[in-house]
Amino acid sequence: MTEPRKLKNYINGEWVASATTVYEDVLNPATGEIICQVPLSTKEDLEAATQAAATAFELWKEVAVPRRARILFSFQQLIAKNAEELARLITIENGKNTKEALGEVQRGLENVEFAAGAPSLMMGDSLSSIATDVEAVNYRYPIGIVGGITPFNFPMMVPCWMFPMAIACGNSFILKPSERTPLLTEKLVELFTEAGLPKGVFNVVYGAHDIVNGILEHPEIKAISFVGSKAVGEYIYKKGSQHLKRVQSLTGAKNHSIVLKDADLDDTVTNIIGAAFGSAGERCMAAAVVTVEEDIADAFIAKLVKEIKQVKMGNGLDDGVFLGPVIRKENQTRTFDYIEKGIAEGATLLADGRENIPSEGFFVGPTIFDHVTTEMTIWQEEVFAPLLSIIRVKDLKEAIATANKSEFANGACLFTNNAAAIRYFRETIDAGMLGINLGVPAPMAFFPFSGWKSSFYGTLHANGKDGVDFYTRKKVVTARYPKASI
Ligand code: NAD
Repeated sequence: MTEPRKLKNYINGEWVASATTVYEDVLNPATGEIICQVPLSTKEDLEAATQAAATAFELWKEVAVPRRARILFSFQQLIAKNAEELARLITIENGKNTKEALGEVQRGLENVEFAAGAPSLMMGDSLSSIATDVEAVNYRYPIGIVGGITPFNFPMMVPCWMFPMAIACGNSFILKPSERTPLLTEKLVELFTEAGLPKGVFNVVYGAHDIVNGILEHPEIKAISFVGSKAVGEYIYKKGSQHLKRVQSLTGAKNHSIVLKDADLDDTVTNIIGAAFGSAGERCMAAAVVTVEEDIADAFIAKLVKEIKQVKMGNGLDDGVFLGPVIRKENQTRTFDYIEKGIAEGATLLADGRENIPSEGFFVGPTIFDHVTTEMTIWQEEVFAPLLSIIRVKDLKEAIATANKSEFANGACLFTNNAAAIRYFRETIDAGMLGINLGVPAPMAFFPFSGWKSSFYGTLHANGKDGVDFYTRKKVVTARYPKASI
């Protein structure tokens, strides 16, 4: 048997073997096979990356913004040219099907397109007359080295929320990708380098908590972008702030979809299946709870349970597969434990994800519980798997009051044709990303990804103008030009 390939860090424009002796297997979750090994890098590796990033920053910040943007345009072209290969890598290391993987590549591409608008986005503002003979101008500058820490579920899209905009604004960047999905990052580095990015501007250090702690503590790293689970996100926000850094921490979710009695049932069921079971439920915008008006609950559930039987499970590379595996054996076991808990706490199991699953890989079939209540663990906690809870309510007000009891508030959706209901929902639901008659209000490059409550810690969100604000600092110049001098 040949030894699995060992990944290297990317520091100062070169692939460098980590100083560590500790490597973790990277698995294809659809088969359980080892794809490669990822180093759990050391603080020495991080130090080398930080020094390279610090040196590169001094040069990169001086490069005119349109010239920086031109490199992002080339990067965008290369991503478009290599979209299929990028998608294939996503499927191999993450498990989602090829169509979803291509969708993820497209989202990442849009982030690069948005960042290429840096010459307009970085413009400051001015007031020609703030006092007699006095004007004020606001300029934007990069902040220095930015550290990015990303999760396994979107190995392309989530890093692309961070490094393209940070780098377009003139910062240098150190990315610590998820140790469970590190492969795609290699390809991104290759393409960005081919696009003409100078050495040291974008560095990758693979690893786990030791590297994260190093990033949080390092005095040269000025800002942290984190996306991941709630527990880790809280820790990152507290520790990063304690070390006086800017921190944006996008965390866990428990998204509610509300179905009113006037909704188009066929369309709603199709959307809910995509939102709850697509990407094996491993999406921070996944529909985890469906709250249905009692009058249509039986009809809605009958349709949902019938349709779910058509779902094809398997390796995401195979034609027609909708539902791929969850990321690791532990995630499968954890989900099976939640199913046990749901039953023990009194919910009605309508579809059991433990049945009829492939023998290899880490699969969980579509799982549906009816008669779920807010006291149950499956309602309260983020399961992050293809497990959907159904709650029956008498009306929209009760549905919103129920959803608002959740500690999470990433997204929420409403299915209805009633304009007044849509407005009421918008005004009263606790969530930052709302969908009307769609399953997943996906984060887009042009708007901030606005999680609320325990789904986000910080002030400036990822994406949109928030991203530009997060990755820049300002100078306001107030100047007096006395007329008397003319
Ligand atoms: P995770 O929190 O386990 O890992 C995220 C990152 O943190 C990884 O790079 C990991 O190496 C690092 N990490 C893990 N444990 C750590 C520790 N103890 N100390 C320091 N660093 C640590 O998350 P995950 O399982 O990779 O991803 C799934 C989670 O991400 C879900 O909770 C999901 O909701 C969330 N997520 C949120 C968003 C959002 O925009 N809000 C988007 C995608 C994913």
